[in-house]
Amino acid sequence: MAKPAIRFVCAECGATHSKWSGRCDGCGAWNTISEEAPLSAGPGKKSLGAARGRTVPLGDLATEDAPPPRMTSGMEELDRVLGDGLVEASAVLVGGDPGIGKSTLLLQAAASFAKAGAKAIYISGEEATSQVRMRARRLDLADAPVQLGAETNLRNILTTLEAEAPEVAILDSIQTLWSDTVDSAPGSVSQVRACCHELTTFAKRSGTSVILVGHVTKEGQIAGPRVVEHMVDTVLYFEGERGHQFRILRAVKNRFGAADEIGVFEMTGAGLAEVANPSALFLSGRDAPAPGAVVFAGIEGTRPVLCEVQALVAPSALANARRTVVGWDSSRLSMILAVLEARCGIPFIGLDVYLNIAGGLRISEPAADLAVAAALLSAREDVALPPDMAIFGEISLSGALRPVGQTENRLKEAAKLGFTKALAPAGSKTGTTAGLSVQQMPDLATVVGDMFGAG
Ligand SMILES: [Zn+2]
Repeated sequence: MAKPAIRFVCAECGATHSKWSGRCDGCGAWNTISEEAPLSAGPGKKSLGAARGRTVPLGDLATEDAPPPRMTSGMEELDRVLGDGLVEASAVLVGGDPGIGKSTLLLQAAASFAKAGAKAIYISGEEATSQVRMRARRLDLADAPVQLGAETNLRNILTTLEAEAPEVAILDSIQTLWSDTVDSAPGSVSQVRACCHELTTFAKRSGTSVILVGHVTKEGQIAGPRVVEHMVDTVLYFEGERGHQFRILRAVKNRFGAADEIGVFEMTGAGLAEVANPSALFLSGRDAPAPGAVVFAGIEGTRPVLCEVQALVAPSALANARRTVVGWDSSRLSMILAVLEARCGIPFIGLDVYLNIAGGLRISEPAADLAVAAALLSAREDVALPPDMAIFGEISLSGALRPVGQTENRLKEAAKLGFTKALAPAGSKTGTTAGLSVQQMPDLATVVGDMFGAG
């Protein structure tokens, strides 16, 4: 058999290339491609031949299966993101930037699972056990019956887990593990893939739920979590700006629950505190009514979350005016600016536009379109909107406003937080919203005429 050719692999997305290049065609990342020894050649190109396999039992579609058994940790924000608890024999990947607080979160999770009666093992490949113990003391978790180990050799880890048979095993991090069957450095794409494969197989075989920590890297020196996302059952990302105290645990893939759920935490001196009412947190510390600040009534997963959209519009000194976005999609901003210009006659040429979602939240809902447009108009016209008004709605390219899902939940949350006005697309199913007057508008031009004079 021919020796498999050496291949070049992207550490960000795992795409393979036949030759080195500075930029990955798969994900567009720079300087992430490096040479990797090939994985085992696999079964080869020959057909299976005459050797028979076993018959696989088949069933019909109507058979009712019992729901998979779940363990709850008692950390409600974590349990909800997992889909009401951790499923037995599942593999979960928790990704995030280094230093964002993944180890703190998972040590707290391990302690919560242990206190809830599950056998929990925490294996750190990043730190010595004394360092982990120090953190546990700082978080006031030293009395939790978590078993702690420091190891990076996959063979030793699997032997330990087989012998101990815990219900939850946390491995921090997947990039520090190495398998002696793979001939490349820890953190390389082949090592990360091989270790993840072994650990997910172990989870299915033994019934232990395995939680893996994965660092997101921009430099591409080690393989990112995207390389193994397809192997695990659930992928969670732990996000937040270092300067902000809020942290968001976001499900991006979940075979056992909703994939758009978020959990909100606050980083405090004593670790991560759960935030039961995120809207109140994201809206806290709002200043007096200012031009460019608008409250968006959004939905994150199953929960309504209110947050502030801030815009700043200023004359530009550059030939190409600046468009800076934090917490939202920049191509969506370009679309809104184009619609404002083409359908409402409001140009932004020669103006720098800055858009920010306050509190470090990242929004992906199209329902934020109208709030963004209102913030841009408010900033451009220097007119402050009423501070007790919540806004939501999708904008189409024609300038028409489209109703969005869960209108009633958005309005209820706004009313609960003391808002008295709401701006929504015409045709929204508002239901009964006591104490809230809802203005329904058919298109963006009406909004401009009604709230900002003729524009
Ligand atoms: Zn790539």
